[in-house]
Amino acid sequence: MEQLTQRLLRYVKINTRSDEASTSVPSTQSQVEFARILEKECLQIGLSDVTYNTSNGFLTATLPSNTSKEVTPIGFIAHMDTADFESENVSPHIVHNYDGHDLVLNDEQQIILKVADFPNLKNYVGHTLMLTDGTTLLGADNKAGIAAILEAMVYLLNHPEIEHGTVRVAFGPDEEIGRGANLFDAKGFNTKYAYTVDGSVKGELEYESFNAAAAKVTFKGVSVHPGTAKGKMINAVKLAMEFDAMLPVDQVPEKTEGYEGFFLCSSLNATIENASASYIIRDHDKEKFNQKKQLMLQNAAKMND
Ligand SMILES: [Zn+2]
Repeated sequence: MEQLTQRLLRYVKINTRSDEASTSVPSTQSQVEFARILEKECLQIGLSDVTYNTSNGFLTATLPSNTSKEVTPIGFIAHMDTADFESENVSPHIVHNYDGHDLVLNDEQQIILKVADFPNLKNYVGHTLMLTDGTTLLGADNKAGIAAILEAMVYLLNHPEIEHGTVRVAFGPDEEIGRGANLFDAKGFNTKYAYTVDGSVKGELEYESFNAAAAKVTFKGVSVHPGTAKGKMINAVKLAMEFDAMLPVDQVPEKTEGYEGFFLCSSLNATIENASASYIIRDHDKEKFNQKKQLMLQNAAKMND
């Protein structure tokens, strides 16, 4: 446990924030540097085939089979980047045997993690917690996944009496910006099954996922002095609102649950001249998902007519 904690403490201090605006692979150089650190560590602990693929940003390695039985190889995958939030100078600290009370993250700035705001803290009474100073993210999503996978490999290497087949590991970039997996060389990974180890609650196993897409909708208006605007002004703010109003009012995150799909307008920047709206679409059902995408395109076409 101590070794796992130390590994995670080391990783969270390395800034690996991804950048949606970047066009490079990976989106940030810091992820390359982190991959190079992990590459060295994979070699140090004794993994084989340690390879950093510069074209997709994935680091892969192998724990060879130690059994004569025929066992299907499995893989474990985790992402190296962290979410789009302050990630410079992450300063973690540990709380042992958490007592269930509010947690002071930062005394000086009075940043307090309140049980009233995060009632699920109650689920972690008695646990060891790793916290930040409240000014940055921790990045346990997904440094914890990487640390857990590598410690598991260390454990298996130190316990050759535990028989296992070939285990492949992969650490990839840019999950948080929805791109990293697109370039993953699934064939080259050479396993029939692989698990993504990523942040959630202890003991949870997910075996399905929703379909997801993002849309950026831009609106072009015509700005005219309001006093002489009649018949001339086209207000992009209004166009954006009109477009949004054409989407089903009940298919939004705040009115759906479980397998129900939704449209989410996640940002809207608008002036009379220009507006741009960002949407995400999610649906577990592929057909309904495609219908949702189609609806957005149809609505855009209608407005352009
Ligand atoms: Zn994650």
